[in-house]
Amino acid sequence: DNNPLKKIIAHAKEYGFVYQSSEIYDGLQAVYDYGPYGAELKKNLKDLWWTSMTRLNDNIVGIDASIFMHPLVWKASGHVDGFNDPMIDNKDSKKRYRADVLLEDKAAEYEKAGEQDKADALLKEMGRLLEAEELDAVRELIVSEGIVCPISGTGNWTEVRQFNLMFSTQVGSVAEDASEIYLRPETAQGIFVNFLNVQKTARMKIPFGIAQIGKAFRNEIVARQFIFRMREFEQMEMQFFVRPGEELKWFEAWKESRMKWHKVLGIPEDKLRFHDHEKLAHYANAAADIEYDFPFGFKEVEGIHSRTDFDLTQHQALSKKKQQYFDTEINKNYVPYVVETSIGADRLFLMTLANALVEEEVGEGDKKKMRTYLKFHPALAPVKAAIFPLTRKDGLPEKAKEIFNSLNFDFNLIYEDKQAIGKRYTRQDLIGTPFCIAVDHQTLEDDTVTIRHRDTMEQERIHISGLHGFLAKSCSA
Ligand code: ATP
Repeated sequence: DNNPLKKIIAHAKEYGFVYQSSEIYDGLQAVYDYGPYGAELKKNLKDLWWTSMTRLNDNIVGIDASIFMHPLVWKASGHVDGFNDPMIDNKDSKKRYRADVLLEDKAAEYEKAGEQDKADALLKEMGRLLEAEELDAVRELIVSEGIVCPISGTGNWTEVRQFNLMFSTQVGSVAEDASEIYLRPETAQGIFVNFLNVQKTARMKIPFGIAQIGKAFRNEIVARQFIFRMREFEQMEMQFFVRPGEELKWFEAWKESRMKWHKVLGIPEDKLRFHDHEKLAHYANAAADIEYDFPFGFKEVEGIHSRTDFDLTQHQALSKKKQQYFDTEINKNYVPYVVETSIGADRLFLMTLANALVEEEVGEGDKKKMRTYLKFHPALAPVKAAIFPLTRKDGLPEKAKEIFNSLNFDFNLIYEDKQAIGKRYTRQDLIGTPFCIAVDHQTLEDDTVTIRHRDTMEQERIHISGLHGFLAKSCSA
């Protein structure tokens, strides 16, 4: 199969990166589990994000807020009333779709056929109707565009309804006491409600930021494209609190800074772009996405939003607690403005994996063959090095294990002594291990080993005492 997304999904499963959740029960839609190499890769991505936020910026600190929050939080944030997607059902197949996605797909078809004007007009009309909540007209648009359900092949549609994406559950042990709460649909609110706690206890002065990594839940209507859109996912958000009037300057600065971050981690320039929002959410005065060229087109990986003082003002109103900061430099009390950067760890994972998967022809003449490997930046690679004794005798395994044990705490390593060495290299290529260290007879004489580089397949000899320094240097971002 030549579908690039299918290749990524198959590779992710086969080599221990991502599995369908509850697979033995035929899976649960839009929920996934990370395998041994996937868990390491995801952890490396999160650690790098956390480190670059909280250590490279001395005015950003991290928190870890809970998933459950007081129900009024979601009233204040606007999620109870406004966190909706328009959905529509096909009466014949009983399949549910997002009305806006059906229309976006249609627009993409026009675009592909070179009819850019038609595509633009359709998207504009859709945006207008959704904003005005003219749901009947959205349905009419779907019908008049001749959009049919790919399963039933018919255009026999129900009305369009708004569907709230928040999951709810009950707290309290007996039914009468129980009250409805939500699983958080974003991590940001845990930061907003702790804004003053953090500012006071960590003695922060504006401008400063609060970073957080944590799970979020959305009952997405159409969940497709693998881990791109999940019902349970992880967000990495940073809210940066600034003086009113200075937010657009910080918005530009964070846009640039975040774009640079992705490039440093190996995403090529031509695969990334900004998409500036023309239509802004009610709480924002500027917004941009960083988009990556996924196998299914340029799509959002990260959002940078200038959220004004909307959230803190709302919480001030509903909690009746002042959410103000006294700025000693200008002798003024104010509700700070917020610029946020928000990225999904899973979407970042998908971008990293998609970008890393390389298939290339190697060898000459009848030795020509396809080679598949994962070209992760060494800082992200799940396994940093594999240690191989050339054979299983003459004391080579013992020597290799000694090296393994001396490096194992600082670097995630694999020890492998079975199979021919070529096969062992291939296996490491498939999980993206940047270096293979081979221990041979010469090692016993002069304490040198060979290092084989994943991308070039070239080998060099280095002294064992230099291995720690070599890995530390090569595997830093
Ligand atoms: P989309 O338009 O794709 O639904 P969004 O604009 O609603 O995304 P935000 O609310 O801005 O997304 O969330 C910030 C980030 O969280 C996104 O850029 C994305 O990386 C991630 N994210 C959002 N929803 C999901 C999801 N269902 N699955 C995985 N990641 C998600």
